[in-house]
Amino acid sequence: MYGTGVSPGISIGTASLVRKKTGKVSGIITAGDEERISEVKKFTNAVSNAVAEIEAMMNNRSGELQKTEIDLLDTHIEFLNDPQIRTDILEKINVEHKTAADSVIEVINAAASMFDSMEDDYLRERSADIRDIGSRILSHIDDVDGNTINTLPENTILIADDITPSDIISIDITRIAGFATRKGGKTSHAAIIARSRGIPAVVGCGDGLTGIANNDLILLDGTAGEVIINPDNVTEEAFRIRQKEFRLGIASLSDLRDKPAVTGDGHRLKLYANIGGPSDMDKVIESGGEGVGLLRTEILFMDRDSMPGEEEQFLFYREIAEKAGKMPVTVRTMDIGGDKKLSYLQIPEEENPFMGYRAIRLCLDREELFITQLKAILRAGYYGNLRIMFPMISSAGEIRKAKKCVAMAKEELSSKGLPFPGKIDIGIMIEIPSAAIMAGELAREVDFFSIGTNDLCQYTLAVDRMNEKVSPLYNHFNPAVLRLIAYTIEQGSKNNIHVGLCGEMAGDPLATRVLMGMGLEEFSMASSSIPVIKKIIRDTDMTAAVKIWNTARSMTDPDEITGYLKER
Ligand code: PEP
Ligand code: MG
Repeated sequence: MYGTGVSPGISIGTASLVRKKTGKVSGIITAGDEERISEVKKFTNAVSNAVAEIEAMMNNRSGELQKTEIDLLDTHIEFLNDPQIRTDILEKINVEHKTAADSVIEVINAAASMFDSMEDDYLRERSADIRDIGSRILSHIDDVDGNTINTLPENTILIADDITPSDIISIDITRIAGFATRKGGKTSHAAIIARSRGIPAVVGCGDGLTGIANNDLILLDGTAGEVIINPDNVTEEAFRIRQKEFRLGIASLSDLRDKPAVTGDGHRLKLYANIGGPSDMDKVIESGGEGVGLLRTEILFMDRDSMPGEEEQFLFYREIAEKAGKMPVTVRTMDIGGDKKLSYLQIPEEENPFMGYRAIRLCLDREELFITQLKAILRAGYYGNLRIMFPMISSAGEIRKAKKCVAMAKEELSSKGLPFPGKIDIGIMIEIPSAAIMAGELAREVDFFSIGTNDLCQYTLAVDRMNEKVSPLYNHFNPAVLRLIAYTIEQGSKNNIHVGLCGEMAGDPLATRVLMGMGLEEFSMASSSIPVIKKIIRDTDMTAAVKIWNTARSMTDPDEITGYLKER
């Protein structure tokens, strides 16, 4: 079966189904007191084990978890200990004579539906937490599956509908050899997580995955996008050889860590990483990243009940600045909205959230939130080499307004005597076609551009990046997208500002030489992609890359372009 390979590598392992168990009610009625006592025990043990499991996770991974993740886990413990839920479940077991599993399913479903129907956004979102808790209790009751998070066998291949950041928090990542999901495309959460953790993954496999059972043997090729279930011996052996070859390739790449990203004919390029928080910095350094081209700060704002204040944000950014030392760190101001909703901001439902009240639009409307973030970034800038980047810019007016907010933030800090760097570079994401078209004019307003191909692609082609039904149309090799990227790079260079690219295209090996040929200087990607891209750059002469781009730019069909690049 094929899906979209989104994180390279070959894995051989056993399937573990991640099911959001709100499950089917069996309808079984218990026979006598003994059975009822045993069901009560099953339930109470399951709750204790679930709490212990979360606590163990928090202890064992305390250095690794971020504050938002700890808050989320605390909320889950609170739900597990909720006396009302407990009473309701015990009543079903004792009075209605239902099994522990059925009682949990019924009570959790009722509680989740109640939250679902609430007006308040924040409370409505809690239904997902309730369902998550329900699945966790059920997985402890249901010994047959046995695949609770703590008991995942080594070399597990997770099979799921989708994988979200909150799933990843609860998983012992060292046991995961790969994952395959039914939904999703190249820029879905699952794909971004897999790449940043260096786990081979195939997404968007569709309904073929539903045939997989726990403990099936799975072969997964995250480069080719292939998933094979219970293979015969010959296929398995061929895969093992493929895996060895891949590992040998990676081992030779790790020798490149301390070598520069310089082309065969001496052009020096820069390879940066995309991160979500301080815990990602070790991977950046390990993989030979020379800086951070994109810090997605919105991760700090998600999965919590209220906005982080200036001090909390300051500590978060400072930790990254200190870990990065002299390396540049590009801090993108909050890119909230679209698929990244914050329940506590109470943003009304929108028909088209991706084109709605989000990112810089929201920040300029809610200046108090924006200035708080800017003050925290500026203060942290004193401890390292930070630069500020605004997302979703569509016009010069927005840049000017945002820069005014930076000036106001500086004034507030000065009046309080708080230190911040004298000069901090300010840049914008080029991810809306209007910004790319106006790149020459916008370049005069800022110190750098970073091209966000994930959004540039969706807005240029009018293809929703989250919708797998239209995913074949979502292609960064579409000539219209390539032209906008090339124009942005050209205008940046004419105006003497740096141009980087931080969309997923930067880590696509097929795109490297085309982007080099266009004159791109900075590539920012998941840390795990850096060695491969460095190898391509070191193996290519700039003159050859320019020729490749010149040939590709004359083609009008994305498939023709990809076909040509594959042959090179
Ligand atoms: C982009 O749009 O290319 C980008 C890097 O930002 P995000 O994926 O966070 O929207
Ligand atoms: Mg974007």
